[in-house]
Amino acid sequence: MRYIFLSLIIIFYSNILKAVEFKGKFEQGSFIIGKAQKGSKVEIDNRKIRLTKDGYFVFGLDRDRKNNVLIKIYENGNIKIIEKKILKRDYKIQKIDGLPKKQVTPPPEVYERIKKDNILIGKARSINTSYDYFKDQFIKPIDKYIITGVYGSQRILNGKPRRPHYGVDFHAPEGTPVKAMMDGEVTLAKNDMYFTGGTIIFDHGHGVSTLYMHMKDVNVRVGQKITQGDIVGTLGQSGRATGPHLDIRLNWFEVKLDPASILNLD
Ligand SMILES: [Zn+2]
Repeated sequence: MRYIFLSLIIIFYSNILKAVEFKGKFEQGSFIIGKAQKGSKVEIDNRKIRLTKDGYFVFGLDRDRKNNVLIKIYENGNIKIIEKKILKRDYKIQKIDGLPKKQVTPPPEVYERIKKDNILIGKARSINTSYDYFKDQFIKPIDKYIITGVYGSQRILNGKPRRPHYGVDFHAPEGTPVKAMMDGEVTLAKNDMYFTGGTIIFDHGHGVSTLYMHMKDVNVRVGQKITQGDIVGTLGQSGRATGPHLDIRLNWFEVKLDPASILNLD
């Protein structure tokens, strides 16, 4: 009898250990870290994703995600299926007037340039490395700022509805030093992209990347390893910007996430 009791405890306990844990809200735009048993395999919406040696994995939810997310965990020959509802968010409407006309509707002669920029950005965002920096707490890129733009807001530029804003805008004086939010590797460093101006993309592993735009100076190069807190350049207003600010982005591959979901913003 005692033996049975003991084994029940063991079974119960090992089930707790095997439970999948998540950090992050199941909400539109959210960044979510999961932990499964070592050596498991994980699929998110039937897409195979990478696990760290300790069983950590990461994924993100689109701004307009409506359907439930399907998480399949294969461990020890068993499949665990977890289905989670996604909380919907209300996004702001942001009107910006007085932008130069060519910045709202680019002239045809720059289409090729924009296309090239987008290909470079897309390539950098599709990188899938085994770095596991994404697991740690990100820090803010600058210390003193005013938030002037938030994720998800619908933009109306000079009265014309445009793509939603996917970044968080930190307003601060031009030339303010900008820090890396997390360890990583630089996968794109450009001084002069059409929309984004001085642009840096950092890879933090497993498809997680962050992007800085409108930089005045870009002081890193592609392939460079970065430590959290390193100064990577200065804040500017290059590209399509109405004033000096740092616009930061967070991506899980092609999915654009809310940078506020990884930062403690005041
Ligand atoms: Zn912005």
